[in-house]
Amino acid sequence: SALKKTKDLLRTDVRDLFKSGEILDEAKLEEFHRGLITTDMGVEASEEVVESLREEFGGRTVDPDAVWENVKNTLKEILKGDGSTNWDPENPLSPLNMATEGPTVILVSGVNGVGKTTSIAKLANYLTKSGKKVVLAAGDTFRAAAVDQLTKWSQRIGCEIVRKDPGTDPASVAFAGCDHAVQIGADVVLVDTAGRLQTQQNLMQELEKIRRVINKRIEGAPHESLLVLDATTGQNGISQASKFSDAAGCTGIVLAKLDGTAKGGVVVAIRKKMGIPVKYVGVGEQLDDLQLFSPDDFVEALLE
Ligand code: GDP
Repeated sequence: SALKKTKDLLRTDVRDLFKSGEILDEAKLEEFHRGLITTDMGVEASEEVVESLREEFGGRTVDPDAVWENVKNTLKEILKGDGSTNWDPENPLSPLNMATEGPTVILVSGVNGVGKTTSIAKLANYLTKSGKKVVLAAGDTFRAAAVDQLTKWSQRIGCEIVRKDPGTDPASVAFAGCDHAVQIGADVVLVDTAGRLQTQQNLMQELEKIRRVINKRIEGAPHESLLVLDATTGQNGISQASKFSDAAGCTGIVLAKLDGTAKGGVVVAIRKKMGIPVKYVGVGEQLDDLQLFSPDDFVEALLE
């Protein structure tokens, strides 16, 4: 499964620490804490897990299965937060706030290399397969290769793409994409944005400008603002994320590359530190490798 590496780590560094009949003392709890940290769950969440165990079982003889259940419950509670993540597992589009009338605009941001282009393609594929008419706005005008890649994806998916010359103001591409979507009666516009980090200040201003411009063309837009993070960067991705979340007005996270990392615990840290829900996870390089994020399923799969 996509979570294999994180799972293996939890098994060896956490689960296998406890044997039936053993006493759950402070030394064990400390080991447990270290194990949780290695999955990039973050200090706060790890402490919360350990605290719950201490309260429930501290200093007593422990059944490893009961410990495992307790961990699961704490993690689920953290991930569910205020309950806003209770979307319909049968409907991959349920986490998305759709416009009641006219095109829904979804802004997508993220630093170069995190998997932004691929994630946009996967989302466009989901939406198209669900019968939505999709327009891509190729706003990452600083990377000609990214625009070409997105164009290839659009051809495979069978959705439209609005692109302009390299170096064009990304906001103008975003506007044109929205405009085209209104003209042709499209359901969704996915707006790609630039992700070059060396000029962070400009990047944030650019994102704010894109939001203003989109909003001028389509009332209430953007309806969603998804930030793509790379799961393999673990905790490092979070500091990046907080910078984006203000400028882009993030409403959700797409956590790409969750396959191939033992840092899957970062999902928990993101929820804990940022308060923004992970809505989708990327689990491979193909169009179908995007999953709706479900706290229950995630925790059950992780602590199987
Ligand atoms: P961008 O620079 O942020 O637009 O990143 P790309 O979408 O071009 O992705 C960078 C690399 O990561 C590419 O080789 C993708 O195939 C790969 N990639 C993207 N998402 C995933 C994922 O969920 N899992 C895996 N294994 N690879 C991914």
